[in-house]
Amino acid sequence: MTTADDFYGHYSLTGKAGWYERLGPLRQAIIRCDGPAVIQILKARCSIDPEDPGACWLWKGAVRAGYGYIGRKETNRLAHRVVLEAARSFIQEIGGLSVHHKCGIRLCGIPEHLVLATHAENTAEMLGRRAYLQRIADLEGALRVLAPGHLLLAKAPRPLLNDM
Ligand SMILES: [Zn+2]
Repeated sequence: MTTADDFYGHYSLTGKAGWYERLGPLRQAIIRCDGPAVIQILKARCSIDPEDPGACWLWKGAVRAGYGYIGRKETNRLAHRVVLEAARSFIQEIGGLSVHHKCGIRLCGIPEHLVLATHAENTAEMLGRRAYLQRIADLEGALRVLAPGHLLLAKAPRPLLNDM
C-alpha cells in the first residue's frame, strides 16, 4: 500500500520542518490517502478522448518500458499501480499482485481498465493476447493480398474489454 510511511517516509526521516508543505499536490494527496484527489491529479496528466467516456487515459508523463511512472528515485512508482491503489482508497495491500490492464494498453490509467491479478494470471493473459494479436495480423495480411479494398482493413476494432 502507498502511504506516508512507505512511499514518502524518506521525507519525514530528513526531519526538516515543513517537508509536507514543500511537496506537490500529488504527493500530499497520496500521504493523505485521498484517492479521488490522486485520481483527479493523475487524470489531468493523461490524454483522453473527450468524445468517448470509456476511452483509455493515456499517460503523458515519464515512460519506461512502455509504462507510465510518477516520482523519482525513492518515490518512483508505476502510475497505473498508484491509480488502482487510489481507486481502492489505499485501504488494501496490493504489494505482491500485478495490476493488469484489461485494455492491453500499458500507458492507460483509467481505473475501470485496471484489475488486480497474480503474476501468473497477468503473464498468461499477456501471452494469450500476443498470440491473438499475431493471429489477427496474419489474417489481415492475407486479406490485404486477397481483397485489398475490404472494409475490415479500414478500421481497427476496439479492445474487447468484457472478454478479457
Ligand atoms: Zn485502457
